[in-house]
Amino acid sequence: KVSIFWFRRDLRLEDNHGLYQALKENENVLPLFIFDKNILDKLDNKADARVDFIHDQIGKIHQELAKKGSSILVKYGDPEVIFKELLNEYSITAVYTNRDYEPYATTRDEKVTRLLNKNHIQLHRYKDQVIFEPGEILNGSGEFYKVFTPFSKVWLSKFHSAKPEEFKPMHWKNLLQTSALELPSLQEISFTKSDISIPSKTADEDIIAHYNQTRDFPAKKGTSRLGIHLRFGTISIRKLALKASELNATYLNELIWREFYMMILAYNPQVVDQAFKPAYDRIPWRNKEEEFAAWCEGKTGYPIVDAGMRELNSTGYMHNRVRMIVASFLTKHLLIDWRWGETYFAEKLLDYELASNNGGWQWAAGTGTDAQPYFRVFNPTSQQEKFDKNWKYIKKWIPEINSDKYPKPIVDHKFARQRAIDTYKSALNQ
Ligand code: FAD
Repeated sequence: KVSIFWFRRDLRLEDNHGLYQALKENENVLPLFIFDKNILDKLDNKADARVDFIHDQIGKIHQELAKKGSSILVKYGDPEVIFKELLNEYSITAVYTNRDYEPYATTRDEKVTRLLNKNHIQLHRYKDQVIFEPGEILNGSGEFYKVFTPFSKVWLSKFHSAKPEEFKPMHWKNLLQTSALELPSLQEISFTKSDISIPSKTADEDIIAHYNQTRDFPAKKGTSRLGIHLRFGTISIRKLALKASELNATYLNELIWREFYMMILAYNPQVVDQAFKPAYDRIPWRNKEEEFAAWCEGKTGYPIVDAGMRELNSTGYMHNRVRMIVASFLTKHLLIDWRWGETYFAEKLLDYELASNNGGWQWAAGTGTDAQPYFRVFNPTSQQEKFDKNWKYIKKWIPEINSDKYPKPIVDHKFARQRAIDTYKSALNQ
């Protein structure tokens, strides 16, 4: 008889809520990870750094569990099918996991729940990847908040009145004692190693402490780079939020944005492919393929835009300030559908998070929650003068910036700005 703990986006042993509960309430807990074919088959780049990263983290968990006389069972396939097989192989008493709020994950978990319930087994789910999950922060009428500021106020007051606690001690003796199980190689799940490097998971306290002064300057190492670790749960949000609350309120506020967008997505799953404000789906996007290609390659002739896209293409990262600039440029200056840009980011970003990416793109396009009004169009040149005035970031990513190899602007700013405003206005007034 075994109980299963199913890892998903919580790839760590310490302070893991679901794992803590499984070990507290059961003996013979068998850790499980499934490389989900439904997700992996959609990735075109078979050297995807995120898959490589996950594979690496599972290897580390495997080693740590071996020291405790246990192991992790790693499968590759469709989770529902895998669970059908596991039901034949093991006598399972219960399955434990942490909640995941994305539309795909919710459907997957419902299917697995139905299957397990048919076999009189419970799927126990816990809150782990957020401080407050969708549904915990609602307005006076019990509805979700459509704007960030009131949401963040309630979030903060709840947080300060009951600080989250670490889940410990972990009852390691309740792990299933077994010899090391074999892990599939990257090749066996149809992927190869990536040469993109992953930022460290150790939060740099100095950076967090000065975050409000440094975070807007892409040439500085002024942000934490913890995105990928929050995405895959290689760090604990509880520990990070506690540290942030001691060190820097602006940083904590960004962690609240993360939960705000997760909540928006959970209550409005249609935003995956529709504007949060439906009227904005009337905008007639120009969608010129060659302009989109120039944007992707970092060849628009606007240095701050191009530097950002080149940073993204070669590192899987782009600074937040620059994400806002390139997203605004694509949607406003080029009038290309925000969904195109969102999809491109989803392929490239190491820290890709459906809720935040969608929220960030809809914010830039003006189609989302408390959006900047559509007539406010970022000026890429003045943004550059403000945030990279010494051209340090730009020169790093565009070595040919001062030669005639660097392209002329793809579109005139003044013209593009007016075109965007007119297009939005007439679409919204229809
Ligand atoms: P830091 O600045 O050190 O912030 C710490 C953490 O707070 C981040 O890792 C992230 O988890 C969270 N955070 C910070 N800013 C935001 C924000 N505006 N919204 C939600 N969470 C935030 N963030 C993602 O995690 N994944 C995405 O796919 C993503 N796509 C974006 C797309 C666009 C168009 C825009 C404008 C923003 C996007 N962001 C996304 C938000 C933000 O740019 C990144 O979280 C941040 O740049 C990651 O770098 P960092 O880890 O150094 O963050």
